[in-house]
Amino acid sequence: MTAAHASMPRATPLAVLERTFGYDSFRGQQHEIIDHVVAGGDAIVLMPTGGGKSLCYQIPSLVRAGTGIVISPLIALMQDQVDALAALGVRAAFLNSTQDAGQRALVERAYREGELDLLYLAPERLAVESTTRLLDEGRIALFAIDEAHCVSQWGHDFRPDYLRLSVLHERWPTVPRIALTATATEVTHREIAARLDLGTARHFVSSFDRANIQYRIEAKNQPLQQLLSFIRTEHDGDAGIVYCLSRASVEKTAAFLTEHGIPALPYHAGLDARLRAANQARFLRDDGVVMVATIAFGMGIDKPDVRFVAHLDLPKSVEGYYQETGRAGRDGLPSTAWLAYGLQDVVQQRRMIQQSEGTPEFRRRLGANLDAMLALCETVDCRRVQLLSYFGEEFAGGDRCGNCDTCLAPPEAIDGTIPAQKLLSTVVRLWRERQQRYGAGHIIDILLGRETDRVTQQRHDQLTTFGIGADLSEAEWRGVVRQLLAQGVLGVADDGYGTLVITEASAAVLSGQRPVRLRKEPERPARGGRKAKIVQELPREAGGLFEALRAWRATRAREQGVPAYVVFGDATLRGIAITRPASLGELASISGVGEKKLEQYGAELLELVRA
Ligand code: ADP
Ligand code: ZN
Repeated sequence: MTAAHASMPRATPLAVLERTFGYDSFRGQQHEIIDHVVAGGDAIVLMPTGGGKSLCYQIPSLVRAGTGIVISPLIALMQDQVDALAALGVRAAFLNSTQDAGQRALVERAYREGELDLLYLAPERLAVESTTRLLDEGRIALFAIDEAHCVSQWGHDFRPDYLRLSVLHERWPTVPRIALTATATEVTHREIAARLDLGTARHFVSSFDRANIQYRIEAKNQPLQQLLSFIRTEHDGDAGIVYCLSRASVEKTAAFLTEHGIPALPYHAGLDARLRAANQARFLRDDGVVMVATIAFGMGIDKPDVRFVAHLDLPKSVEGYYQETGRAGRDGLPSTAWLAYGLQDVVQQRRMIQQSEGTPEFRRRLGANLDAMLALCETVDCRRVQLLSYFGEEFAGGDRCGNCDTCLAPPEAIDGTIPAQKLLSTVVRLWRERQQRYGAGHIIDILLGRETDRVTQQRHDQLTTFGIGADLSEAEWRGVVRQLLAQGVLGVADDGYGTLVITEASAAVLSGQRPVRLRKEPERPARGGRKAKIVQELPREAGGLFEALRAWRATRAREQGVPAYVVFGDATLRGIAITRPASLGELASISGVGEKKLEQYGAELLELVRA
């Protein structure tokens, strides 16, 4: 044990921040939260991913006497969390089902002897009497309940074991508790307070804005090509996550990227557990790996240098979208959230909702979630402003953020009433005159006046709307259909074929009572271009050193079997590359260089900078 806090158990939070973590100031509400918990208060902390929640319980655990007990559902990540702390000189360990009796006994002894600053536990451990007895045999500094939204039965990550956590308060009423989550909805917030018996806790709600993430949503044409070009032009060599809806498309996309020279790995629930774990480990440990995954991948992945999150399919809700995109740029450096979405997404998701099991109430909620997501996709306003307002927050910077596609290349809002009427009346005529229903492709053929086999066989060239839409291109028509579906002015039949039908709202459009506003895509969609890429953002002299430092870091990480960011984060390497420290003192002043790492790597790094 070399870290300074061991010899000075009552160090101040700021001193621990500087010496152990190597950071010079607290972020946002960290200081207030930490002071509150150090003083013995309970807290509920809502902070976005990357906001810096971990320090809020790690520092109080180091400052208060005893061991901080961290309840976390993420067994697969405990080893990495403990390794990262060990690299800082913090004495941390975990108890979970992956250990054998011998390993467990060692940890238990260390806890009893007061040799641990932090102990990570899976929630199910607390159901076992031997665990609660063990806790009584040592000294508890605090309880941290991580991923506290797992207590919510309405949420997507519900863990029944979390409901039991109210025992903490009954059994250890004087030990402070801090519950943390990155889920922002009001419902979850209330459930956490109620179910964990945190009625008197102080609430700390941060802004959920992620200023370093650039949000972009574009029309889907050739998704794989679009994705490839996005990665190549903006994120070559960067780590990223690509989300797909189905296992099949995960496999296909990962294979496609690999063929084109991008190191990509698949992750979905259908893969063998060992392969899944191996792929996750490679993503965490190696630099620049792209993980192609279903939404089964991600909770708790605290890899700080994920530079982009791409969606090839429409997420089912704004909440899901925000959670997933939030995994980009936890280190605060520029990152991109990129989504490609098209007509098929809308048709498919509406169909899935119609066919889903569950009460009408449940389906209504799914429908409302989808509508909010579609509104975000089709907006001509700032994406960030809209995202934050979805979570009940007003964007502090006015009505334009300047770092989303609609701010960078504003789309036009145009009057689409006439095209909408042309399209709707085609759907109406086919149904009224012939009792026929078709999908978007055939309807568009009719509007464009194309004499396809089906058009001539069905004599659709005799409809009065045949050819009346030749003023728009096929792509433009697809955009019209997509947006009318998004606005609910057009619907999808529940026949499972994605055929188009009119809705209650259609009549008002046909009669001219309800105007239709459409989004006209900008000529050239916004590009982050060079801005998003950290190396390119560096002064030219620093770029070479940054790459050399990354290579050095990769070697050290591999030797120790830990993720690269456990050695140093990108932000720290960037700091070294720019300032070129010439002494240990200068090196120590760089953010992310604490005492332990200075001692371990200082001399080597100075040598590298000199060379
Ligand atoms: P969260 O758990 O809220 O998603 P983390 O606790 O993982 O976020 O923190 C995100 C990143 O920010 C980490 O790399 C962490 O080291 C860094 N960080 C947190 N607090 C600070 C701070 N005060 N100064 C500099 N970096 C910080
Ligand atoms: Zn914006």
